[in-house]
Amino acid sequence: MFGAIEAGGTKFNCALANANGEVVAKTQFPTRDPETTMIDVVEFFTHTQQTHGTMQGMGIGSFGPINIDLKSEHYGRFLKTPKPGWSHFDFLATLQQSFDVPIFVETDVNTAVLAEHSNGAGAGCDNVVYVTIGTGVGGGIISDGRLVKGGIHPEVGHMLLPRHPDDHEFPGACPFHGGCLEGLAAGPSMKARWGVPSETLGDDHIAWDIQAYYLAAMCINLTSTLSPQKIILGGGVSQKPGLIDRVAAQFESLWGDYLPLPGSGRVSDYIVLPQLAPEAGLVGAIMLAQQAGQSPR
Ligand code: ZN
Repeated sequence: MFGAIEAGGTKFNCALANANGEVVAKTQFPTRDPETTMIDVVEFFTHTQQTHGTMQGMGIGSFGPINIDLKSEHYGRFLKTPKPGWSHFDFLATLQQSFDVPIFVETDVNTAVLAEHSNGAGAGCDNVVYVTIGTGVGGGIISDGRLVKGGIHPEVGHMLLPRHPDDHEFPGACPFHGGCLEGLAAGPSMKARWGVPSETLGDDHIAWDIQAYYLAAMCINLTSTLSPQKIILGGGVSQKPGLIDRVAAQFESLWGDYLPLPGSGRVSDYIVLPQLAPEAGLVGAIMLAQQAGQSPR
């Protein structure tokens, strides 16, 4: 058995899977303070192991910022985070107290890109970027078949963007950068900009033109720095019907006739929706648990 946790800022998804990656038990609960939340995590895996068998490894895809450097003595520990109570919480050590199995920790977007790269929209590509646009904006990158971890981990959501000509008044909602990508294009930022939740904005509201422009500008930056073969747009905001086509149109006009796109050359094959949503993060955490189970202790 393998234990997987998708630790999100608003909810936790936990699953127990067999060696084929098939989920045999799963649960979901709200993210509260770390101590209360971890009681639910430990209880789920303790009980499900009694029914289904012992875990050989665990995988965590977590909200960040969190230390994902396997060689660091602080591996699996949160960095300073605005989320109350979670700054410097040692996620890995806390789990390890209850479960003496190998545990791998990644960011939630890294587990999502692992899954989409292996079985989803990025299958067959060695260079894939997965970006989630929802409560926040985050990106997982696979380059030459490997996860890009960098010095801490990439923070795609905090790249700076040119302003849409009709969006100069709104200061942006990121507490650190104001109008970075997340501060302009995450769900709560759209709500702050327009005064209503993004899902209630009509199809022909200018909000969607502005949103498409920001996501297209993001795709230009990702294309010019990483040269991916696919850019996958996940998260709740990306699911807005028709938005991805508007992103593609804006991307074409911003990119111009510069380098051809990889693959078919069509933007519609390059900027795509996920195939495993909303399960990608959990599927990737199961893959990570299997890798942990095979790792030397
Ligand atoms: Zn920011």
